[in-house]
Amino acid sequence: MSKKINSLKTEVGKDDGLEKIVSLCKRRGFVFSSSEIYKGFSAVYDLGPYGVELANNIKNIWWKNMTQFRDDVVGLDSAIFMSPKVWEASGHVKGFSDPLIECKKCHSRLRLDALLEDYGIMADEKMTEEEINKIFLKNKDKIKCPNCGAQDFSESKNFNLLVKSNLGNFTGDIDKEPVYLRGETCQGIYVNYKNVLDSTRVKIPFGIAQIGKAFRNEITARQFIFRTREFEQMEMQYFVSPDESEKYYEEWKDLRWKFYLDLGIREENLKWHQHENLVFYAKEAYDIEYNFPFGFKELEGIHNRGDYDLTQHSDHSGQDLSYLDPSDNKKFIPYVVETSAGVGRTFLAVLCDAYNEESLEGEDSRIVLKLAPKLAPIKVAVFPLLKNKPELVAKAKEIFDILKKEWRCEFDDNGNIGKRYRRQDEIGTPYCITVDFDSLEKGDVTLRDRDTMKQKRINISNLVSYLKGKIND
Ligand code: ATP
Repeated sequence: MSKKINSLKTEVGKDDGLEKIVSLCKRRGFVFSSSEIYKGFSAVYDLGPYGVELANNIKNIWWKNMTQFRDDVVGLDSAIFMSPKVWEASGHVKGFSDPLIECKKCHSRLRLDALLEDYGIMADEKMTEEEINKIFLKNKDKIKCPNCGAQDFSESKNFNLLVKSNLGNFTGDIDKEPVYLRGETCQGIYVNYKNVLDSTRVKIPFGIAQIGKAFRNEITARQFIFRTREFEQMEMQYFVSPDESEKYYEEWKDLRWKFYLDLGIREENLKWHQHENLVFYAKEAYDIEYNFPFGFKELEGIHNRGDYDLTQHSDHSGQDLSYLDPSDNKKFIPYVVETSAGVGRTFLAVLCDAYNEESLEGEDSRIVLKLAPKLAPIKVAVFPLLKNKPELVAKAKEIFDILKKEWRCEFDDNGNIGKRYRRQDEIGTPYCITVDFDSLEKGDVTLRDRDTMKQKRINISNLVSYLKGKIND
């Protein structure tokens, strides 16, 4: 019998399902709180030895899908710091804000739209301070501070999410011409659109893909790595002619949905969320949501942004960002179809989806991460049956040395075999190999499958080709 964590629904403020993931992440070296020995640093996390492997696998799969497997998308790595004028043109300096209220009793600062959502009241992105305050006042009697339970709040004020720095500013006053840490990676793509067009052979329709860090002064940082102040985005902006934007929008929606299925996420845990009240520039906007232990929440946004971004940057920079179609000599400002995903949210989704607690025969139980092999931090673990038999250890090392050239592998001679299996199950290693005395005589080993726990003997000379078929799908 197996229990799936995703069926564990949690109430407001009580994330038991999430707690199991958080605990596994810490115990097994996936995610640590930032600066933990100094009691942590709110809403910032570090990736441990297995976490960095998982995140790299997610990013590599995304990158390959976007660039290597297509001939119309190229890559970019723009800097985190940009001219502050970029953020004025994009509208972030004026309009990138969330409604903030403060609990007068415990002084917690809360994001009002998220708090309302916890009570099933939807506030939309377009609302003014006044409008959201009105909704809040109407529902005041039922809304409690999630930290202390009090019902005494300040008025809601819009709080800008851009993170400021004093880069290149030696006046000692950070508010004097602040330089921002980028709030999203896509602005680096828009401002390089012309460079890419002029320096490569791309023609419309084409895309630019980028993976990189973004920073937001998020008001409430709950739900582990779901919402952090420093995070990584995987964004692709596809530049199209205006009359084809709807066609490509539908194509990208379809491709991005399939991407999550390809990562092994179960389809019943995904759903579309259509933005009904669009931000002023968007032509159409859908999110892919995942069924996290705290409910369905955004994993990725897919937006038809029209010509808003390139028009803004044209106007503010004075540079002509229009495109001259060589086939008919028509000039236009391209529309942008954007796909914008978070590495951290994908990481959390694949962990939640893969997490299983299984009770086994003889009242034994195990925790197992049934990750798709291509996502698993470690693909194969190699064990000598006994640590104190040098000939077994030497043979196991020899096999490890062959396999490590193909995949990230681990050598482990510590503790009994059962314990070594459990450890690998918890980090999602799809295959374990045990070298015993028969291996020395017959040249074969025991190969154990993570999901079925079945074991079979396989000849050492066939290992690589057998595992290639299983791991590199
Ligand atoms: P939310 O409504 O949850 O704040 P958003 O709509 O502001 O998200 P976008 O600006 O569309 O998010 O960013 C695109 C993607 O970047 C999101 O789908 C998410 O995967 C990721 N992302 C955004 N903000 C954060 C954050 N604070 N922490 C982790 N990932 C984030």
